[in-house]
Amino acid sequence: KDVLLKVENARAYYVLEQATVKAVDSVSFEIYEDEVVGIVGESGSGKTTLSNLVFMNMLKPLRLIDGKVFLKTDGKFEEISAMSRDEVKRRFWGSDITIIPQSAMNALMPTIRMSKYVEHLAQSHGIDEKELLKKAEERFEQVGLKPEWLRRYPFELSGGMRQRAVIAIATLLNPKLLVADEPTSALDVVNQKVLLQVLMDLKRKGIVKSIMFITHDIATIRQIADRMLVMYAGKIVEFSNMEKMLEKPLHPYTKGLFESVLTPEPEVRERGISVIPGAPANLINPPSGCRFQPRCPHAMEICKQKEPKLIEVEKDRQVACFLFQEERV
Ligand code: SF4
Repeated sequence: KDVLLKVENARAYYVLEQATVKAVDSVSFEIYEDEVVGIVGESGSGKTTLSNLVFMNMLKPLRLIDGKVFLKTDGKFEEISAMSRDEVKRRFWGSDITIIPQSAMNALMPTIRMSKYVEHLAQSHGIDEKELLKKAEERFEQVGLKPEWLRRYPFELSGGMRQRAVIAIATLLNPKLLVADEPTSALDVVNQKVLLQVLMDLKRKGIVKSIMFITHDIATIRQIADRMLVMYAGKIVEFSNMEKMLEKPLHPYTKGLFESVLTPEPEVRERGISVIPGAPANLINPPSGCRFQPRCPHAMEICKQKEPKLIEVEKDRQVACFLFQEERV
């Protein structure tokens, strides 16, 4: 498989005056060309920081403390972590990587016609305005909006439609990687379904090559992801082929996550991840050893002393847990 994006040993911390929040701590992973990766974890697990990392969107107080991020562009890898945010933005945002932010439906200024954003995009990339406006109309149609709505103000559309308008504009330059951060969380069930169809349609048509879909909702991920990356307290605890993971989750946290979501009892389902006993880890002073250790029903002595590495335990399955490593004996 061809790798599109590589993250090596990255640590991204929020450096505040009073404390340092270790939001993403020593993570390494790859995103392939032509795949959908679902990123799941409870709030505060580092999901959104991970998306900022992929994007090199390091705005104070967030800082890349260590590690590297590489993006393949024109057949070769460029180390985007060695560039300034401005350079990454100018050279790669929109054309290679694009993000649908968490509050995408509010990302557009209510008093600016949507066509204005397209004109700006054309100017900043030296593209003919008329050509891009025409492409935007077509893209509006593709995402289920009327082409003439491009000239409307965002407030004239419903939330779900605005969300799709953002997707249409964000993908105008056919980016290779689309990062969608909780895109369905503010939508009703009908609009959620439409949005997933729109994203998958863009991928099927090759408009975007790969998608990173960040969510706390496993039910959504199950429908669209090829692989699933599970985060806990700033660490990747499991990264596996979706089918294999659904069949048999390996990490105790993933197991707890699945049990809470796949249970037939609606009120347990609604409480979701929080059904796993114990409180989420403190990221200023994370627990020693394995960060899940205070909540893990299988914790052993070694789990308090050493940190389990994320290793491949079988084909397409990486897990960070001593239950699957020789070291426990
Ligand atoms: Fe549980 Fe230990 Fe595995 Fe961590 S390493 S998940 S504490 S068994």
